Amino acid sequence: MIMRLLSRLGLGGKSKPTVVPAARFGVSNEGVSGGAMQVIERLQGKGYVAFIVGGAVRDLLLGFKPKDFDIATNATPEQIKPLFRRAFIIGRRFRLVHVLAGAETIEVSTFRAAQDSNDSHADEHGRILSDNVFGSQGDDAARRDFTVNALYYDPVAEEIWDYLGSLKDIKARQLRLIGDPETRYREDPVRMLRAVRLSSKLGLAISTKSRTPIKRLAPLLSNVPPSRLFDEMLKLLLSGHAVATLSTLRREGLHHGLLPLLDMILEQPQGQKFIELALADTDERVREGKPVSPSFLFATLLWHDVNQAWEAGKKAGERPIPALHAAMDAVLERQAEQLSIPKRFVGVMKEIWTLQPRFEQRSGQRPFRLLETERFRAAYDFLALRSRSGETPLELAQWWLAFQNAEGDMRTDLLRQDEHVPDATKRRRRPRKRRTGEQAGAPAPESAGPAPE
Ligand code: ATP
Ligand code: MG
Repeated sequence: MIMRLLSRLGLGGKSKPTVVPAARFGVSNEGVSGGAMQVIERLQGKGYVAFIVGGAVRDLLLGFKPKDFDIATNATPEQIKPLFRRAFIIGRRFRLVHVLAGAETIEVSTFRAAQDSNDSHADEHGRILSDNVFGSQGDDAARRDFTVNALYYDPVAEEIWDYLGSLKDIKARQLRLIGDPETRYREDPVRMLRAVRLSSKLGLAISTKSRTPIKRLAPLLSNVPPSRLFDEMLKLLLSGHAVATLSTLRREGLHHGLLPLLDMILEQPQGQKFIELALADTDERVREGKPVSPSFLFATLLWHDVNQAWEAGKKAGERPIPALHAAMDAVLERQAEQLSIPKRFVGVMKEIWTLQPRFEQRSGQRPFRLLETERFRAAYDFLALRSRSGETPLELAQWWLAFQNAEGDMRTDLLRQDEHVPDATKRRRRPRKRRTGEQAGAPAPESAGPAPE
């Protein structure tokens, strides 16, 4: 009780850290962002302790460039906020401070302790439902997930503080859960996904003890709130190592229920090729520092479900477009129960899908109108993936590539060369509504119509 009280006040550490000069591990301030440096100097200048913590320290030690910098301090959010011009207290469950420094957002959190999974803060599987108790720095280290994520770097003193033998694991390139693995996975099943993601991304081996329980405990992921799973899944898919990570997830039995039928998709030869191609493209883009669209990615991951349901609908006699809409809605609804994709992404996914049948129309004004739609580029990239995976003829994607790149009359020529022009297409278009402002920029209709007969 007294210990708990002391530790809440930040006075009683559970253990003493080993403090080593950062230079011994090849870490210097060169890799530290200007914003992180400023925040630490300001906090320390006011008499608080402040360290870079977590993923950034780990990445510096392993020779990767940190994505962002998190800071841990003994100052409370109320003490931190007034020290910075642009700082916001965020988070309901655990309050922390976002400090804006130029284009950077630095997350500053107060040392906190783990909640006990035996008390009322956990559900019946041991999943921790709240963790909002301040603690000592030692407590803060112990509540983290892996030893390599629990290191503190003081860039002013240029020292690394190690409470848990983390540096040994860094040297051994090993990912080891802090504490008893089963308890820690039960407290937060997302740690199983993190184990796989971080090991693939960083090239670390998951220690045997941390790895063994994963297969058995994988079903616990179904108790995790769908929005939390989405965040983790997105991190995983955008890590630049999605292909490797998903194949490990599959090996560990962790893909079940993440994206419904992802398991089934991965087992279908064609579906697998499609997804692997999509993920490999994404990995390449991420590694080249190019932007990646989460909507596009989730559209690819769910496409085979949608496509299958669509085909079934058409076979049952539904008209193609209503059948496609029904298929999309059914798949998305099922999806939302497990891993909920935010609405803003779902809207774009639907646009990408609904544009697919329109690529089959290569006569009259339709190709021009398709070219002018806002999502044309994403929809075309999607079509190209379908072609490369063997789902649609390669020729179709090639035609659209040529059509996009052709100039002026050349486009019309492409239309004329197309032998699959259904005669009715031109006339059916006539009674349509007026073209919208956005579409008004399309090439002049007169010059682009199909051949007269
Ligand atoms: P990444 O490089 O992908 O951001 P990260 O380790 O920094 O990896 P974050 O989600 O940014 O991941 O988490 C920051 C830190 O918070 C981690 O390094 C770890 O110390 C701690 N942490 C994150 N998730 C958990 C968790 N589920 N349980 C315990 N500690 C966690
Ligand atoms: Mg991070």
